[in-house]
Amino acid sequence: AETIAGLRKDRLDAFAAREARRFAQGRPKSAEAQAEAAGFWLGGVPMHWMADWPMPHLPVIAKAEGARITDIDGYQVDDFCLGDTGSMFGHSPKPVAKAIRHQARRGLTYMLPSSDTAEAGRLLSERFGPFRWQIATTATDANRFALRVARAVTGRRKVLVFNGCYHGTVDDAMVTLDGTGRTITRPGLLGQFADLAEGAVCVEFNDLAGVEAALKAGDVAAVLTEPVMTNSCMVLPEAGFHDGLRQLTRHYGALLMIDETHTLSSGLGGYTRVHSLSPDMFIVGKCVAGGMPTAVWGMTDDVARRYAEANANRASGHSGMGTTLSANPMQFACLRANLSEVMTEKAYAHMEKGADRLSHGLWKAIERHGLPWHVVRVGARVEFICAPGPLKNGAQAATAHQPAVEAALHVGLLNRGSLIAPFHNMMLVSPVTKKGQIDRLIASFDEILSDLCP
Ligand code: PMP
Repeated sequence: AETIAGLRKDRLDAFAAREARRFAQGRPKSAEAQAEAAGFWLGGVPMHWMADWPMPHLPVIAKAEGARITDIDGYQVDDFCLGDTGSMFGHSPKPVAKAIRHQARRGLTYMLPSSDTAEAGRLLSERFGPFRWQIATTATDANRFALRVARAVTGRRKVLVFNGCYHGTVDDAMVTLDGTGRTITRPGLLGQFADLAEGAVCVEFNDLAGVEAALKAGDVAAVLTEPVMTNSCMVLPEAGFHDGLRQLTRHYGALLMIDETHTLSSGLGGYTRVHSLSPDMFIVGKCVAGGMPTAVWGMTDDVARRYAEANANRASGHSGMGTTLSANPMQFACLRANLSEVMTEKAYAHMEKGADRLSHGLWKAIERHGLPWHVVRVGARVEFICAPGPLKNGAQAATAHQPAVEAALHVGLLNRGSLIAPFHNMMLVSPVTKKGQIDRLIASFDEILSDLCP
């Protein structure tokens, strides 16, 4: 019989059909609410990627609290997706909710600092390192603005990114390798007109020789990378990779930009702190303010000095950076509450322990069923990959993806009460995720595998 990722395809298809039916039959209210909204939203959804979840239709959410979501059909679901990291510290963490209530009566946006601004800045430096900070609303924007600075201070044109990377909808990083080692614009981009390879060069992750060859050209302003590739399955850096990146960027005069948006799962201060990296620029978004749309980007004193120079020497007019509602008082209130009371050593200890339990449980199930799969963990972030590992780079990660298997598993897990991230197999353990929730996810995963490979 035909197999896919070690599973019989006929069994997989039958399972997928059964689980889709089960989902749809159990959620008539969600189906009705969505049909009603569909007449108003483009393509039926308020954000196009909502249409990419694998269920026959979406569950409509009534409430999310802690690590649990309740939909309008009355299902309580253990949430391991956690807004794809936006809610990594749990939904509506109490100190953040309190800060929101307090600020709610004091203005939502006014283009001036609030009484929380100084303390939020101090906490950022205490947690992440002595960077000079700026605020944005999304990690996408933070990366875009940081890239402008990198180009401005180096006077160079290109950003080096890794094949298969994702840093948000940042045009500059939307390049890929074409199979012959050439950097090209990603083929799927809508309405694209510029050749993005003019401003970017793409190299495989873990390929220091490739990085050096690219840097030698002398036109690279910065290397922009996640410490771990988290958007291409999950690809860990090999021993010495980060040291090599730091040495090479210094040697060839390029800045090192670390995007911690997902790897904040690593522990207090992110992967940078935990593994003593020393980037020139540091970017983090999503959950940094506990779920309030906020991102921050910072630079070392040296880059800040060069930035001031570049700024003093430019023509007057718009810098191309900044958005009106950024640096609003709600962001400072939430940053302050989250950094001081939610993102704590104790919270990370709980996340680490739970994620370790989850990772071991999934591994055991995979081994019991003799599947050629593997599990990767970066602190609170766990991912199972339906292919052998470890993966070395984006090219390998691209072939490891098994969309049909993953979609069936995701719907099966949701029917058993666990929500994991769509598009890949990512699960986050929050400071309020309970052992019972983790064990239920492991048991469901095992039950599904028993069904698929008896
Ligand atoms: N950086 C990384 C590493 C990301 O994974 C993402 C989004 N998944 C972003 C930046 C962009 O975040 P946002 O969509 O909130 O702008």
